Amino acid sequence: MEEDYDVVIVGAGISGLSAARYLLAKDSNLNILLLEAADRVGGRTFTVPLKTETGTDSWDLGAHWVGRCQTHIMKLLEEFDIKTHPQYLTGRKFLQVGKDNSVKSYMSDIPTLSLLALLDLDRAMKRIESLAKEVDQNDPLSCKRGKEFDGMTMETYINQTMWMAESKEVMEVALRGVLGVELCEISFLYFLTYVSAAGGLKNLVEATPYMAQEYTVQGGCYQISLRMAEELGDSRIKLREPVTLITQSQDTAVVTTESGKTYKCKKVVLAIPPSQIAKINFNPRLPPVKRELHKRMPVANYAKVVITYKKTFWREDGSSGEVVTNGGPSTESDCTSGPLCLVFDDTSASGNPGLVAFIAGYQLVEWRQLNDASRKSSVLKCLAQFFGEQVHDYIDYAEKDWEAEPYVGGAPVCVAGPGAMKYYTVGLREPFNCIHFAGTETATIWTGYMSGAVQAGHRAAIEILLDLRPQTVSGQDLIDNNKPFKLPNT
Ligand SMILES: Cc1cc2nc3c(=O)[nH]c(=O)nc-3n(C[C@H](O)[C@H](O)[C@H](O)COP(=O)(O)OP(=O)(O)OC[C@H]3O[C@@H](n4cnc5c(N)ncnc54)[C@H](O)[C@@H]3O)c2cc1C
Repeated sequence: MEEDYDVVIVGAGISGLSAARYLLAKDSNLNILLLEAADRVGGRTFTVPLKTETGTDSWDLGAHWVGRCQTHIMKLLEEFDIKTHPQYLTGRKFLQVGKDNSVKSYMSDIPTLSLLALLDLDRAMKRIESLAKEVDQNDPLSCKRGKEFDGMTMETYINQTMWMAESKEVMEVALRGVLGVELCEISFLYFLTYVSAAGGLKNLVEATPYMAQEYTVQGGCYQISLRMAEELGDSRIKLREPVTLITQSQDTAVVTTESGKTYKCKKVVLAIPPSQIAKINFNPRLPPVKRELHKRMPVANYAKVVITYKKTFWREDGSSGEVVTNGGPSTESDCTSGPLCLVFDDTSASGNPGLVAFIAGYQLVEWRQLNDASRKSSVLKCLAQFFGEQVHDYIDYAEKDWEAEPYVGGAPVCVAGPGAMKYYTVGLREPFNCIHFAGTETATIWTGYMSGAVQAGHRAAIEILLDLRPQTVSGQDLIDNNKPFKLPNT
C-alpha cells in the first residue's frame, strides 16, 4: 500500500539527516521519511572500535577532521555537545618525492624542497588561490577563462605553469590526498570551484588552526550522524530500502524501493552522490543536462588505514607523525609504488596511540588487487621508511576501501572531469519538478566535506520550505545557507 508523506529524503548521510532536521525545526508537523539503502545511517561517516593496550577506543574509517573554518559542521557539533580534539602536529614531518624516493624531514610548515622548487610551488599556490577567488559557485563557467579551464585537466594546467618536477609531484600527491584523484582526471575549473567553496587552497590542505585538518572529533564523526538519527527517531528512517524509481506527476512524486514498496509525497530530496543518482530510474527521465553531469562526475578512489599501538614511539623520536609521500618504492610485485600518500598521528582524545594513513588515486587501484596479507604488509613497510621497524609491533589494524560500499562506491567525493562544468550549475543543484538535490557534492560552501553536506541539506530544505511553508523562511536562513534570494512561488 502506498504511504503518504510531505517529504521523502533519499539517503541518510549527514546531508539527508540535516535536511530532515532543518525541515522539522521549521515545522514539526511536516510528515518526513528518510529512505536509506544501507543497514546503517551515516554514509561516508563511519567509526569503529579498535583494540588498545587497556581495552578498546573509537577511530574513524570515514570522515576524519573538522576545522573552525567549517561553520556548518562546527555549529552541529556544538548543538550536540560533541567535543573536538586538536590534530597533533608537534615535531618533524616527512616528505618523500622524486625519482629516488628519498625521505626528507622538516620542522616548519615549509617542505624540504630545493629553493627553485619551493618558489615554483609557492607561485602555483598563489595563482590557484587568486584564480579560485574569481569563481562564482552558482556559475563557475562564467569566470574569466572558465571555458578554457574546464577544457583542461589539472595536469595540463600544472605542466603549462609549473617548471620543477619536484614541486609538480607535491601538487600531485596533495591532490591525491585531498580529492582521491590523479591530476589527469579532474577539470581544472572544477578544482578551482572546489578550492573556492573551501575559501582557499590553504584551508583545504593545511592542518594548522582554523584549517580543514584542525581537529578530530572525540569519539568519532559517526556520532554526528547517529545523534541526528536518534533525534529524528526510528519511525522516520527506514534502513535497507534502496530507492530504485521515482515517478513524478504535476505536484506529487512516488518513490519506489528495491523491495517494491512505494511512498507518495509532495517533495523528494536526493541526498546521495551524483554517481548514485545515475543508478536510479526516473519517470519522466531527469533532464539531459543532469544525466550528462551525473555521468561526468565519477566518485574518487580513497581508502583509510588506522593502526593502534602501545606507545606513540614516533613522538618519542621527535616526529609529529605527519608524512606526505608518493608512496616510495614498490614492495609488492603488482604495484608500481608503495601505497600511501598521507599519514598523520591519530592518537585518540583519551590518549590511545594510533596512526592514520590514506591510500588514494591510482595507488589504491593497485593496492586493491593485493590479498589481505600483502595489503597490510605493504602499508607497514611503507610506514617503516619514516618511523622505523616499530610500526610492525601494532595492537590493532583496520582498513576501509570505500569502493566496497555499494551505495557510496568510493570517496571522499565525486569529482568533475574535463568538459563537465558546462552542465554543472543546472545539472547539480537545480530542482526538477518535485525533486530537490542535496549531498555534499551540491554544496556551495565546503563541497566534499561534512560541513558541505550540512549546508547542502539546509539549502535543499529551504527550497522545499519556500514552496510548502514560505512563511517559515527568513532572510537570515537564506544568507546562512547561501541560497540566492528568490521570492516564494515566483
Ligand atoms: C575516508 C574518508 C575521509 C574523509 N575525510 C573527511 C574529513 O576529514 N572531513 C570532512 O568534513 N569530510 C571528510 N570526508 C567526506 C565526508 O564524509 C562527506 O563529505 C560526507 O559524509 C557526505 O555526506 P552526504 O550525506 O552528502 O553523503 P553520504 O555520506 O554518501 O550519504 C549518502 C547516503 O545515501 C545512501 N544512498 C545512496 N544511494 C541510495 C539509494 N538509491 N537509496 C537510498 N539510499 C541511498 C548511502 O548509503 C548513504 O548512506 C571523508 C570521507 C571519507 C570516506
